[in-house]
Amino acid sequence: MSVPALEIGGRPRHLHPFVLGYEPIPESLSIHGGDPARYLLEPVTAAAVCYPDAWVLLDTGFDVDVVRDPVRRAARFNYDSYTAIVPPGDPLLDQVAAAGLDWTRLAGCALSHLHLDHTGGLRLLVGGPPVIVQRAEWEFGRHAGPREVCAPQDYLRPGLDVRLVDGDAELAPGLGAIDTRGHTPGHQSFRIDLPDRTVVLACDAADLLAGITGSRRCGWTAAPALEAEAQTAVERLHALAARPGVEVWPGHDPDWWAWQRHADVGVYPFR
Ligand SMILES: [Zn+2]
Repeated sequence: MSVPALEIGGRPRHLHPFVLGYEPIPESLSIHGGDPARYLLEPVTAAAVCYPDAWVLLDTGFDVDVVRDPVRRAARFNYDSYTAIVPPGDPLLDQVAAAGLDWTRLAGCALSHLHLDHTGGLRLLVGGPPVIVQRAEWEFGRHAGPREVCAPQDYLRPGLDVRLVDGDAELAPGLGAIDTRGHTPGHQSFRIDLPDRTVVLACDAADLLAGITGSRRCGWTAAPALEAEAQTAVERLHALAARPGVEVWPGHDPDWWAWQRHADVGVYPFR
């Protein structure tokens, strides 16, 4: 598999935030030093980057078919104090439709990492456009399972056109991957250059805004050895947030405006 550059004309025009479900997460898993007894009901987020004649999907939420099947759900979400909450219908299909996006114009998908709250929608991309993952994440994910909070059934399914990138990379015009490894070995955040600003989707390198503002790394890493890299990642995001014209969006913050407004209005164009 070679390095991809999605062939898309034009530049990003809009960003559609999606909230594809919710999950209760102890604060200590979201941010280093957080309270292990304080639970946050965190949004499971994704986004569509819209070009004049195409769009790119960033992350994909849960596999709602698994969430709604008691047997498969029990096998996948088999640990304490965690559950996957999904709204009625198929939130990804419904929110893509509400945003006025056409699946035939989907140019590609990129995954921040391979945790199961980000990979479930890949079932919709079999036979579809490229799915971009960091090479280090793919190596991690190929051997991962429930212990690593991964569902290989999602991303090892036949028919996905997986493309691998290494570190910082341009994925498409005005859409970049930012190496934020640490949470997992190949985690990436995304930079979207919009007409009036740049948005950086931190994803799980910073679940909460406090991680970005306070340079506090994520509370969960796939291995203790990754903690230093997780700290480096959040410091990168902190530095980006200080730049004029750059907004860094935390990946799972229940209080972040983009994820809140969505719940109120269903879908909205970016300003
Ligand atoms: Zn994660």
